[in-house]
Order: sequence, then structure tokens, then C-alpha cells
Amino acid sequence: MIKHFFDGILTVDGWRQNRILEIAESGEILSMGDGRAEAADIVHKGYALPGMANVHSHAFQRAMAGLAEIGGPGADSFWSWRQVMYDFVGKITPDQLEAIAGQLYLEMLKAGFTSVGEFHYLHHDRDGRPFKDPAEMSGRILAAAAEIGIGLTLLPVLYRYSGFGGQAPLDHQRRFILDGEAYLQLLEKLQAAAAGQPAVVIGMAPHSLRAVDPALLTDVRAGAGAENPCHIHIAEQQKEVADCLDWSGKRPVEWLLENVAVDERWCLVHATHVTEAERRAIASSGAVAGLCPITEANLGDGIFPAAAFLNEGGRIALGSDSNIYVSLAEEIRLLEYGQRLTCGARNVLGDAENSTGTRIFLAALNGGHQALGRPGPAGLQTGAVADFVVLDPAHPALAGRPAEKIPDSWLFAGDNGVVKDVAVGGRMVIQNRRHEQEDRITWRFRAVMTELAATA
Ligand SMILES: [Zn+2]
Repeated sequence: MIKHFFDGILTVDGWRQNRILEIAESGEILSMGDGRAEAADIVHKGYALPGMANVHSHAFQRAMAGLAEIGGPGADSFWSWRQVMYDFVGKITPDQLEAIAGQLYLEMLKAGFTSVGEFHYLHHDRDGRPFKDPAEMSGRILAAAAEIGIGLTLLPVLYRYSGFGGQAPLDHQRRFILDGEAYLQLLEKLQAAAAGQPAVVIGMAPHSLRAVDPALLTDVRAGAGAENPCHIHIAEQQKEVADCLDWSGKRPVEWLLENVAVDERWCLVHATHVTEAERRAIASSGAVAGLCPITEANLGDGIFPAAAFLNEGGRIALGSDSNIYVSLAEEIRLLEYGQRLTCGARNVLGDAENSTGTRIFLAALNGGHQALGRPGPAGLQTGAVADFVVLDPAHPALAGRPAEKIPDSWLFAGDNGVVKDVAVGGRMVIQNRRHEQEDRITWRFRAVMTELAATA
């Protein structure tokens, strides 16, 4: 057992000063009480917040960050971005994926994320043939997360079709495609690999309504066991809504909620284009809306009606999705700023109890923990896993700030540089803004980026 002292800590009951957390070897918080720095094994001069779950990531896309910022002839769109992504995805080897994911997960820790939901659909070799071990690529994600020390909820993706109504897959989707049987075998293999690893949860992810059909969706959900987290991309783009209406006469969220037992195990990623009725139905289902404000802005997706949804008791979480830029602070402020620009008002997502930054942070903390099926209760309390982030009190963004103004000062006026130390499961993985393997991880990533740039 190790005793950690904090000047200030955001617990589930609000801010507390001069606290000692007793953390078991297993990573569980055994107790939290008043104390003095002299009584502790590790002294944190600063303010601790609970570590955040990042519920939606495609690791390989980190390697194309910045490469799709050029318009083609005519209006550029999500669909032309997707073409750049397809060109890129054809090149990546297992070793390269592991190197890219390692760098990305390191960046996530340094941004304040302590667990990640990896929505993983790059299953096969470059020619589209399955690897001898069908879990080869998934195994690289598991290895990268273990090496970096971030909590992982691996969401292997079922991608079967190219469009609504069971359209045959396209050639550039060849690395993604699985049928129901192969998918369930992959899940079983990954569940066995994750057994005995408390930091790893295996969930599932039908890619989108356009990539599966109703019978397949029902079969795999039944076959996989309904207790697993289940994530799906939904209603991200207007064209997807129009195509779904053409296919079924229903909008995507409307169709899903009418035809599938969506509950608190589900995370509906994006859900950008929803009617009021759909928005209320998601809120009452208990499912989490997985919002990815930086990527949604980058791709021109649109703005989720977060204010009404939160006021209806809806649950939200945050994801870095395309990983164009990894920053918890920027995800939160962009979520709020999108609402401000839409409503012509300030502090749209705050409420009477909490400041805007604190309310969004706590909502995303609880929603993220739920969506990733992370063990124990969410937040810093006895019985929870000791995932926390220590902010630097010497950072100019925090100068002179009382504890209750710390989240807003970081989230609205700071950046990743405010994050000083990070613990996952009680283990210090970032100390003084560095990971102990950082030089090696980043050197390896640079080498891979050079290799990929030279690959036609
Ligand atoms: Zn996505």
C-alpha cells in the first residue's frame, strides 16, 4: 500500500484540501482522509482531478493527422477525408500500428486521459487476407496500451458491408471486413487474452448501421453477451441520415432505438444529427452519447444538441476519434464553444451547482466510465481505481486560482502543459510531464512516419 498526499483533490463529494489517498498494490483506493505531507510516501504539490476516459479512438489515424487539410476540386467533405484515410490505411503493418498507437497513447496520458476506447477495425493484412492469427492487429493495440500503461477498452469492430441494405464491401475496405462467425471468434480470442488483466476490458462495436445488417447486428450482440460495452457510429453525417431514410424510412437513431435493445451498455458515437424525439429517446435509454468535438469540427460533421440533452438527464462522454489533435482541455472547450456559437449565449453547459468546465468534466467522467465499462466506481473515492491527473500549480494558467476555479482555468485557459503527473491504477505513468519510455516511443514513431512517407 502506498500513501499519496495532495494539496487539493476533486473527490466525488467536491474539492478537499490536504488529503491522503491510500492505494493498494492492485491500484484500488483503500481510503481517503485528512493528512499531512510528512505521513505520505509520495507528495503531490498540486491539484488532482480524476483521470478521464477517452471513449472513441482510431489509433492508426494519428499517423495521418495534418495530411487531409487540403481541399480537392469542389467542396471538400467528410467523404473526401475518408478517401485519404482509405489510401493511408492500405499501407500500415502490424509493427507500424503498434508504434503509432504507442505514441498516441503516450499523448493521451499527457493530455489527461487515463483510459481509451479503441474502436479497432484494421483487422487484416495489406492485401485484405486475414493474418494467420486473426487477432494480430488487435494484439498490437493491446501491446501498445500495456507498454504505455493506459487503461484500455478494446472495441473490435464488425464491418461487413459498404452501405445500407447489405451492399458489397469496396476494395479499399478489404482490411476491415469480417462476417459474424469470424467476428465472434475474434471476440472470444481477445476475451481470453484479456483475462486476468484488470486494465483491459473487451467490448464490441458494430461499425455503423451502413456496415452491418439487422440480422447480423442481432446475432453478434446475442453471441457476444449483452453485458459488454457496445459502441456504434451513428448519425454523424447528413448523407448517412438521408441514406438511412432511403433504406428504411427511418433516421439512424430512430431505427436503432426501435429495433435494438439499446441500454446503458451502449455508446452512440457522434449522434450529431438527431431530432428532439431522438435526443430524448437516447437520454431515456441510459446510453451514452460519445462526442468528439475536435474531430467533428475537423470533419464538418455538425453540433450535437448537448445543452438540451444534459438537461434531460442524458449522459455524455468524450472521444478523440481521428486523433487529429489530442487534448482533453480542447475537447471540452470546443464542446462548450460550439453550443455558445449556436445559441448566442455564454456558459451554456454549466448549471447552478457547478461551473461550466466542472460540469462538463464530471459529466464526461461518469459517462466515459460507463461507456468503457471500466472497473469499480467512477471518480476519486474509496473502492475506485486510482486513475488521476495532477495539475501543476506553478503553471501560469493556474496562478492564484482557488481550487474551485482550477478546472475552468485548465480547460478554458490552459492546454496539455498544465498536466504534470498522471497515475493509472495507482502507478505513476507520467512524472513531471514525461513517460519513462518517452524517448524510445517517440523515436520509434518518427521512424515509422518516415517509412510511411516513403511508401507509395
Ligand atoms: Zn470514429
